[in-house]
Amino acid sequence: MDLGIDPQAIKGFLDPEEGARLYSLACEVADIGPCLEIGSYCGKSTVYIARACLERDNVLFAIDHHRGSEEHQLGEQYHDADLFDNQAGLMDSFREFRKTLILAKLVDVVVPVVATSALAARYWNTRLGMVFIDGGHSWEAAQTDYRSWAPWIQPGGYLAIHDVFPNPDDGGRAPFDIYQLAEQSGLFTVQSMSKTLAVLKRV
Ligand code: MG
Repeated sequence: MDLGIDPQAIKGFLDPEEGARLYSLACEVADIGPCLEIGSYCGKSTVYIARACLERDNVLFAIDHHRGSEEHQLGEQYHDADLFDNQAGLMDSFREFRKTLILAKLVDVVVPVVATSALAARYWNTRLGMVFIDGGHSWEAAQTDYRSWAPWIQPGGYLAIHDVFPNPDDGGRAPFDIYQLAEQSGLFTVQSMSKTLAVLKRV
């Protein structure tokens, strides 16, 4: 797996093992449908998935409003001052995201969608090979991501969810809750857990 860029140089919270898993999943689904991720931030997960898309002639839709999740806001634990647009008084990870795509030479396989997940889903009408959910960690955000996008995954395709912590002492519940929803839906079978990346396959 040659990503054409050092992923460790990209801001973000994805472990290399999780990234490698995303890459291999995206390779597998190339004949099923396009890939879609929610929560691109600065493009760390994007380069793993998009590299597979480049190699397999597929496309990645990369959804993020680029105003940061709760934990990225000014004064919060994961705030990054480099990503704060002083003029707008808001977070802006899109400039950094675009820079990542250019450096990694992935502009031609990624469709950035700068909008909330709910808005992007409103008129969506395309079957998908893979959905990677790494958006907001509030209960509402995670539920919206799951309910908006999971139904589009085609048989044989994958649903991957980041920050799934089976033990509540390790982290927030929202991603784990939607993981359980998927598991109990009867539509998915659990495939693997790499660090905090849960993978389910559409039956
Ligand atoms: Mg995450």
